[in-house]
Formats: sequence, structure tokens, C-alpha cells
Amino acid sequence: MTAYADFYRQSIDHRDAFWSEQAKLIDWKTQPAQVCDYSNPPFAKWFVGGTTNLCHNAIDRHLKDRASQPALVAISTETNTERSYSFAELHAEVQRMAASLIALGVKKGDRVLIYMPMIAEAAFAMLACVRIGALHSVVFGGFASGSLASRIEDAEPVAIVSADAGSRGGKAVPYKPLLDEAIRLSRHKPAAVLLVDRGLVPMDLVAGRDHLWASLREQHLNATVPCEWVESTHPSYTLYTSGTTGKPKGVQRDTGGYTVALAASMKHIFDAKAGQTYFATSDIGWVVGHSYIIYGPLIAGMTTIMYEGLPTRPDAGVWWSIVEKYKVTHMFSAPTAVRVLKKHDASWLKKYDVSTLKALWLAGEPLDEPTAQWISDALSVPIIDNYWQTETGWPILTLANGVEQQTTRFGSPGKAMYGYHVKLIDESNGEELTQPNQKGVVAIEGPLPPGCMQTVWRDDERFVNTYWKSIPGRMIYSTFDWGIRDADGYHFILGRTDDVINVAGHRLGTREIEESISSHPNIAEVAVVGVADSLKGQVAMAFAVPRDASGLTDDAARLKLEGEVMKQVDTQLGAVARPSRVYFVTVLPKTRSGKLLRRALQAVAERRDPGDLTTMDDPAALQQVKDLVGD
Ligand code: ATP
Ligand code: MG
Repeated sequence: MTAYADFYRQSIDHRDAFWSEQAKLIDWKTQPAQVCDYSNPPFAKWFVGGTTNLCHNAIDRHLKDRASQPALVAISTETNTERSYSFAELHAEVQRMAASLIALGVKKGDRVLIYMPMIAEAAFAMLACVRIGALHSVVFGGFASGSLASRIEDAEPVAIVSADAGSRGGKAVPYKPLLDEAIRLSRHKPAAVLLVDRGLVPMDLVAGRDHLWASLREQHLNATVPCEWVESTHPSYTLYTSGTTGKPKGVQRDTGGYTVALAASMKHIFDAKAGQTYFATSDIGWVVGHSYIIYGPLIAGMTTIMYEGLPTRPDAGVWWSIVEKYKVTHMFSAPTAVRVLKKHDASWLKKYDVSTLKALWLAGEPLDEPTAQWISDALSVPIIDNYWQTETGWPILTLANGVEQQTTRFGSPGKAMYGYHVKLIDESNGEELTQPNQKGVVAIEGPLPPGCMQTVWRDDERFVNTYWKSIPGRMIYSTFDWGIRDADGYHFILGRTDDVINVAGHRLGTREIEESISSHPNIAEVAVVGVADSLKGQVAMAFAVPRDASGLTDDAARLKLEGEVMKQVDTQLGAVARPSRVYFVTVLPKTRSGKLLRRALQAVAERRDPGDLTTMDDPAALQQVKDLVGD
């Protein structure tokens, strides 16, 4: 057996021994008495009886050996600022923030909502919350009042931490008016609002409720706030899923299991060492931001980079200039960002010395082979796909290069990670598929490993009903993604279970069709949806963003490219998969986290109401589609 295969088997066959070993990667105040309590499936309690603190493991633990090493580097190409905080400085800032929150009435178990741009104070706020045992609930700064209000109602925060404004493309985006409106809309009112004034736009303060960070910080300059030792099962935070398929789910995470899971992933998956530098380009509003901008790298004693700005401003070389300047060793991004870069010249990526990079990890959406190949050629570093969910907190499928170096197969996020008892389930009868190359729903037999969601915030019933299916004696968690596993254990994600279309009795994954279309040299990005058809049940319809649209000014040119694309699908997949139409657009409708909103596209293509669009990024994207398909 290979080293990784053995490691994986240990994690499944000797679960408690395996995780008890991993638990040694972190500091405990009290050692756990029991590794896993699964007496009430599907609810798993990890490291029962242990007490620990997430902030202690991220900061205080490193003060002995690396107090003066940079812990957090906040870079903004929006305000042209760069500021580095050593572990000692971060420790001081977090205590100032913690003391300020306590002064505003926040106690252990209370929720604090964080609605912030990508600035260092957002990290201070998250770390300050877990330091005092309060739960943070970060809401992506790009959300408007309505989405924010519903999250305020759900989390019922005692305090909200926010700022005057974010910035995008060099333009200030005011936050404070949206926050005021959200609080007005919400039935729940926070007692206090703590505001970072970046000096970007003027702010009106509400007397008695609003407080400025600068003055509270001044009052608590020398604050000492010890870490609150909490039960391993004490929730650390709540966070919403991206809302790609419908109403977002409030994921609740524990403390001990999450800290252990992240420490283990830094070692086994990222092969990371203290003193190295991690740059995740995500946002703190998403799970990648929680696990791999803030907590994972800091737990590992690394320097983490927080970036505010676009990947293409001032030019498409900006991320790689950061890699060169800070000698970044680990970089984490998303396919959607790579597709943005792909519209620019690859020479931007070759301009800088990126030889310090061990790899570029990508997650969040299917990484199609042509995109993986493009970025691999442009950077000449290993590209590692990894598949997971807000619910799981860390990768389900990828490569564990810290255990054993394995080769990437483009198109596949890789193997089942230790701790995840991954199965493929036949949708029609619920049976497990055991042969290679059979298509099924990617599922995980309970208990979920440490670090995964404990429950849906305040809704155990929704947790059980949404995700779990019982089969005699066991409970199975569904990812709602459709996949396949080859004979070597490499998995391929074929799309979401909602994205399967049925053309004249043939079940097709929209992902396969998209992959075929995006291998055309002039297609940067494409979305395929199934559209109702009186004859065939459903037909595929494609919306594609050309790499170079300059030649597509007339119908003849568009028809020619459409014909080429259709022909390509015919030869690669067969005529049943051929889209009925290929429409060309400049932008596709996406969630704020960069995921394709196929459900909205499909609705518009079928001339239906697209439903809840609160998580959508750019409304103009859907308007283009409406204009093309007609009313
Ligand atoms: P919601 O659950 O609210 O509809 P969401 O599923 O988009 O939203 P996230 O938790 O942000 O919310 O995304 C997880 C999903 O993203 C996965 O279930 C999968 O569909 C997709 N995904 C993530 N990483 C990959 C990957 N490497 N390859 C393919 N798909 C991926
Ligand atoms: Mg989901």
C-alpha cells in the first residue's frame, strides 16, 4: 500500500487513534477525555472534555518562538497601502479589539456580526471574538441591506463590527448607509456598532449605538485580555453558504475539532511549515477566507497575506508581484479568478519570479482542464484542485502532498482526504457504487471528520433533513454534487445534482458540456443549462464569454463561432449533448463568491422568474441573457 493509502485507511478504520494523534498538533488547556462522541448521529462531538482556544492556537502559542515574525500582511491596491503585523503586534491589536468588544457588552457565547472590507481590522475582530468565546458571523462586504438584514436577524448579534467603506476598482463603496438600512429592516437590533473609519467616505454616527474603533483602541491600548478556555464543542462561528442553489444555510462550527482539522490540513495537505508565507486571494466573507486566510496559516505559524483589490489592477501581474515581493510559498485562489486572468495576456504572469511557490491551490468551482492547463503553463508551478464546501471547512478531495507527493490529474480534484469516508451513491436506489467510473452522488458516511459543520445554526432539524439520509445502521451526508471515481481513486466532480439535464432520455452533466465548449480556443468561460423542450424534455443551452469578441460584431461571425462550438461538442460528446443555441455574452451571472448561478440562467432561459437573487454579483449579467433569449 502507498503511504497515503495507508494513512487514509488508518483514518477510517482506526478513527479515534488517528484523530487523537492529530489532536497533538494543537495546544489544549485540558486534554480531551473522548475523541469522538457519535452516540447521537448525525451529530458528532469531537474531542469531548477538552478545552482550548482558537485565538491562542493562532497567535499566543507562537509568541515564544516567532514574536517578531510577520503574522499578517495587509495589502490594498485600492488604497495603495501595505502594513505588516508581527505575531506580537497582532497579539496586541487583537487584545485591544477584544477589550473594546467586552466594553461594548460582548460576552462568551454572544454573536458578533462582522461586515467588513479586506482590512487588517477584520482579522483583529474575528480573532478577538474567538479569543473571548464570542461567535463571529462574517457577512461578505459586497452584500447589500436586504441580505445583511436577514443575516442580522438570524445571528442576533450583540455587536456589529463594520467600516465606513470598502473600495473596488479605486472607487469607495460605502458600507455604513447599507448597514444602517439593514439594522432598520431587521427585527433584531444590535446594542452596539464598532466602526473602523478609513477616511474613505463621511459617516453619520448614531449616538449611544455607534463607536469608533480609533477611540476605543486608544482607550484599550495596553489591554491584556486572556484567552477564554472553551469546551472543544463550543461554537467558534457561524457562516452562510454561498446561496448558489437557493436559500443560504447557516453553518455552525465548533472550536476544538476545527482547530485540529486546520492544523492537520496545513501539515498533510499543504505541507506547510512555520515561517513560510500563505496568500489566499479569497475574502473573509467566505469559508476559504476563514480557514485559509485567517486561521489555518496562523495556526501553522505562517505569515498570511490579506489582499484588498482586483486581480487585474493596476494590471494582471499584481498577484504575482506580491508572490515575488513576499516570497509566497503557498497560494490559494479560485477557478473564477483564473478565468479572469485568462482574458489577459499570459506574459503578465511570467513577469515576476514565482519560484518560491510550492503550488497554487484552486477551489470553489469545477476547474476545467483547459483552464488548469493555461494557468499551469503560465506559472510553471503545480496546480492543485481541491473540492470542499462551506459545510466541511477543509478539503474533502485533493492531494495530501504532506503525506506523499502525488501527481495532479487535470480535471480531477484528487483523492478522498483522510477522515472523510467518501462514497458514491446511486441516486435511483440509494445504493453505494463500488466499481470504478460509475457516476453517483458524492456522499460521506457519518460521522463527518473534525472541522465540519456541527449543525445549521439554531436549526438541528434543517441540518438533519437537508443533508442526511439514513440507511440501516448508518447515516450518509450528501454533498449534492455528482461525481465519478477512477480505478486509482481520483475523483471527478461532474456538477451539482441540480445541474443534470435530461435530453431525450439521456442524462447529461452540464459540466461535461461546459468542459467541451471551453476547450475551444476563443472561449474564456461558458455556462450550460437545461431548458425545457416540448420534443426532447430538455435541451442544453450555452452562454459563452469569448476570449476575443472583436471579430463578433455581426451575426455571420457569431453564427460561425456558434457552429464551431456545436461541432466541437458533437465530436467530443455526441450530438445529444449539442446545445440548441450558443449565445455570446460579456459576463455570466455569478454569486458574490464567483460561482455560476445556473438556476438563474435556466429560469431566464425558460422565461421564468429567477427567484432569490440576493447573492448575485452583477444584475447586468442576467439582463444580457434576457435580451438575448427574448421575453
Ligand atoms: P449553496 O449551498 O448555498 O447553494 P454553494 O454550494 O455554492 O451554495 P459553497 O459552500 O461556497 O456554497 O460551495 C461549495 C460547492 O462548490 C460544492 O458543493 C461544489 O458544488 C462546488 N465546488 C467547490 N470546490 C469545487 C471543486 N474543486 N470542483 C468542483 N466543484 C467545486
Ligand atoms: Mg452547497
